[in-house]
Amino acid sequence: MVRTLIKLGLSLAIAMAQGQALALTVFACEPEWAALTQTLLPSAKVYSATHHLQDPHHIEARPSLIAQLRNADMAVCTGAELEAGWLPMLQAKASNPKVQNGQRGMFYAADHVTLVHPFKGTVTPFSGDVHVQGNPHVHADPRRLLAVARALAPRLSAIAPQDKAGIEHQLQQFETALTGKIQAWEQLAKPLRGRSVVTQHANFGYLWLWLGINPVADLEPKPGLPPTPTHLARMLEQSRAAPPLAIVIAQHHDPRPAQWLSGQLGSPQKLIVLPATVSGDGPDALFRWFDLMVNRLVQMAP
Ligand SMILES: [Zn+2]
Repeated sequence: MVRTLIKLGLSLAIAMAQGQALALTVFACEPEWAALTQTLLPSAKVYSATHHLQDPHHIEARPSLIAQLRNADMAVCTGAELEAGWLPMLQAKASNPKVQNGQRGMFYAADHVTLVHPFKGTVTPFSGDVHVQGNPHVHADPRRLLAVARALAPRLSAIAPQDKAGIEHQLQQFETALTGKIQAWEQLAKPLRGRSVVTQHANFGYLWLWLGINPVADLEPKPGLPPTPTHLARMLEQSRAAPPLAIVIAQHHDPRPAQWLSGQLGSPQKLIVLPATVSGDGPDALFRWFDLMVNRLVQMAP
C-alpha cells in the first residue's frame, strides 16, 4: 500500500516535472453535457451532478456536489435559469474562482444557441420553474447540440491548451457522425411531420420543433406547475375532439396524469415515457438517446 502510494507520488512528481498536465476535471450539471465533454476530451475526468431519472430543475445542493464543484477546472451547465434553484448556491459554497459566472471555466450551453418560447405569463412564487428566458432544454435538438459542441470545443482548448489538437479532431469526428445521424433521423421521422402530441413540461420542446411535430397541449397548466384536475378535464375534452398521435412525458415525471388521460381516451398505448436525457458516456450515449426517441415516436405513426 505504502509502496504503491510512493510509486504513485513519484510518477505524479515526474509527470509534473516533465510538464505533463493532469487530466482536466469537469463538473457537468446534466448528463448530456457530461457526454458531450467526454466526447470532445476523452481524457477528461467528468462528473455529472444529475442523472437521467432526475429533474434538473430541482436538485438538492448536497455536500458531495459542493466538493465536486470545488475541485473542478471547469463546469458545463445548461444555463437559462434551468439550474437557478441550485447552481448559484453550489458556486457560492464551493468558492472555486474557476467556475464563477463570467469566468472561462463556467460554460453555459444556452448562451450559444437560440432559445424559443420564453414564458410570458405572470411569475409568482408558486409558478416554480417558469422559463422566463425561453425553453432551456436545448439538448433535445441535435442541431443545437452541435452548435453547443462547436462552442464548447474552443473553451475546452483554452483551459487545456495541450489538448487543443485532440479536441479539434474529436469535434470534427463528432460533427461528421452527428450530421450523418441527423439526416437519417429526419428521414425516418418524416411520417411524424404535422402530427400532434400532448406533452408534460417543455423537456422535448426542441425535439418537436426539429421534427415538425405539434405539441398541442401540455399537462402542466404553466411551466413547472403540476397538472390540476380542472386543467386535465380540459385536456381530455381537447384530446377527444382532436386525438393526438401520442402523449409524451419524461421518465422523471409523475406518470399518473398522463396515464389517466390516455386511459380516459381509451388508448393507453398512446402514452410514451422517454428519458429526458442520455444515460452513459460519450457520443454513443447521445446518439442512442436520439435513436430511442425517434424510433419510439415513429412506431406510433406507421
Ligand atoms: Zn424546464
